[in-house]
Amino acid sequence: MSTKNIKAIIAPPPPHMVGDGFRVHSFFPDARLIGKNGMSPFFLMDYGAKIEFGPSKNPRGVGVHPHRGFETVTIAYHGRIAHHDSAGNSGIIGQGDVQWMTAASGLLHKEYHEESYSKTGGPFQMVQLWVNLPAKYKMTPPKYQEITNGIMGKHVLPGDSGFVEVIAGSYNGTAGAATTFTPMHVMNARLNKGGVAAFSFPAAYNTGALVIEGSLRINGQDVPADHFVYFGHEGEDFKVEATEDAVLLVLSGEPIEEPIAAYGPFLMNTWEEVEQAVKDVNMGKFGVLED
Ligand code: MN
Repeated sequence: MSTKNIKAIIAPPPPHMVGDGFRVHSFFPDARLIGKNGMSPFFLMDYGAKIEFGPSKNPRGVGVHPHRGFETVTIAYHGRIAHHDSAGNSGIIGQGDVQWMTAASGLLHKEYHEESYSKTGGPFQMVQLWVNLPAKYKMTPPKYQEITNGIMGKHVLPGDSGFVEVIAGSYNGTAGAATTFTPMHVMNARLNKGGVAAFSFPAAYNTGALVIEGSLRINGQDVPADHFVYFGHEGEDFKVEATEDAVLLVLSGEPIEEPIAAYGPFLMNTWEEVEQAVKDVNMGKFGVLED
């Protein structure tokens, strides 16, 4: 086993709005340092850094839109998010909860601030990942996993370091709650100041970590809040030390080595498949969902 190299520490790119409810920094696929498939199977990461929303009578969010060919994974750190889709699934996630939606063959959905949160306003912070599916699973039926914080695997670290909550994959024998189509690890390290945690992932996996809260030293380098650490493919291990109370989202997964045709809300292998997706939406094949 050897130490993993850090390829880049990336500051949050300028934010943009998704609908009127999500102010996000897109760390990938657009970041030049990471490239289009450099975090595969994680295709996209939109990070809603912590902001304060004022009260609103009408919940902010993003209206009905389609997805095909991948999964959306929404992690709530502050605030509450509501979701409805044309496969009949709906849910509300609050602080510490995760919604794992497999769009696969296609659905329509809408994503909003939850009504009571919307009325009061308050801090809001979230991450949305787009997790790619390999060709053989792209046209499987949609699926929905609501992963409340209570059902996540919790691995308590030695001393007063804190703990790791495992959303998918595993950490030191503690398994995550989500089922995935390809091998991957998604977890939050919640560390007290001075707390340490060690991670080890196969060198060939794409690995990164986003500082949600506080600041850390990762393999000896200081990483401030809202920054993304992009690891290279040399070595397996890295060690994090919280220089103040900190939350770190850690991602690692086996790359999906297939061609990518990405267009708007579709993530397919070929442009013919993207065209088909557009046609299928227009023909009503993604179902019905009221605005
Ligand atoms: Mn969506």
